Amino acid sequence: MTDNILAVLESDTNGISKESRLLLGEADRLSKISGYQLNALAYGENRDTVKTSVDFFNLDTLYFGLKESSEYIEQDAPLDFLSKVHRELQPKLTILPSSIASHYLATNIAVRFGYRFISNCVDFDFDDNYLNVRRSIFQGVAHSIVSIPLSEQIVVTTDCTVLNEPDVSDIKNCSVKLFKLERSTNPKIRTVGFTRPKSVELNVEESDVIIGVGGGANLQLVENDMRKLALALKGCIGGTRVAVDLGLIPFERQIGSSGHNVSSNCYFACGISGALHHTSGLREVDNIIAINSDENAPIMRIAKLAIVGRCEDILPELLDLISHDVSEKT
Ligand SMILES: Cc1cc2nc3c(=O)[nH]c(=O)nc-3n(C[C@H](O)[C@H](O)[C@H](O)COP(=O)(O)OP(=O)(O)OC[C@H]3O[C@@H](n4cnc5c(N)ncnc54)[C@H](O)[C@@H]3O)c2cc1C
Repeated sequence: MTDNILAVLESDTNGISKESRLLLGEADRLSKISGYQLNALAYGENRDTVKTSVDFFNLDTLYFGLKESSEYIEQDAPLDFLSKVHRELQPKLTILPSSIASHYLATNIAVRFGYRFISNCVDFDFDDNYLNVRRSIFQGVAHSIVSIPLSEQIVVTTDCTVLNEPDVSDIKNCSVKLFKLERSTNPKIRTVGFTRPKSVELNVEESDVIIGVGGGANLQLVENDMRKLALALKGCIGGTRVAVDLGLIPFERQIGSSGHNVSSNCYFACGISGALHHTSGLREVDNIIAINSDENAPIMRIAKLAIVGRCEDILPELLDLISHDVSEKT
């Protein structure tokens, strides 16, 4: 029997998501170097758009779970569908994106079938007897390298944002196996609603106000004044690579050429010099307010409001002003 790779894809009405396209490209590359046959699984309402978006890859079979309405379905239904396909295909390697929904599927399938499970992979390679995986740990600050014997069946979730754009040219024509995605009458878990995270927990790309932490700040300032300011202004914390290196903010909140590009309405640059690697991530920001003890720091030239002073002195005053403003309005 030929060994198989199964790529589990996420789709919407326009076909598979951008992340899933990158994932399929990586699975295609792995199938070529391993000689394993490539298959994909997706579910949704529109089989034809998904088929069109996967037809550029060297797929043997697309397993498609057809949803009959756009109503939200509990995760049990895709999990049962994935289990059916696993029983039929017995893939050596199952590769999924790193979203919450796919993590749920990956961990459950690994437990159900006794597979090896590895999360947040960024790179894969095969040698004779092992799948070698690089995975992101400590919020991307470091990578660990793991080898899993190919005698095992393996499930991996993948950080698709680091994958290369796939090299595809001509259209192939894979076969499609259609399943009906049944709503479970007795789901083991039930989603009862969705809530928005507290503003300080928003990620830097979705927040309208960002309190930028730089090398001129310290942990006490971040934990007290900057978090309070973020809460008061319904914003979140972000910052520079120096702030990440000092352990003041996690890597996922780094802004700049090797971090995020942000487009907030207001960016408070607190103890930030304004190096190009950082400001390149601020091009879409409408208003920069800089607080810096050095009036000649480059950030002061691009700020709409440049406050010369120490963060320890200015931030409490600013908080005071804001709390007065809020109490006067209420
Ligand atoms: C390949 C590469 C990629 C990079 N990618 C990124 C990236 O994605 N994002 C990023 O941010 N950087 C990145 N960097 C690093 C970047 O070049 C700068 O080193 C970094 O942005 C500087 O951070 P900073 O302004 O917080 O620290 P510093 O340059 O150390 O500046 C600290 C500032 O704080 C002020 N200050 C000191 N004490 C106080 C105080 N008490 N109150 C007020 N102000 C005070 C100082 O006057 C100074 O202006 C990258 C570098 C390289 C080489």
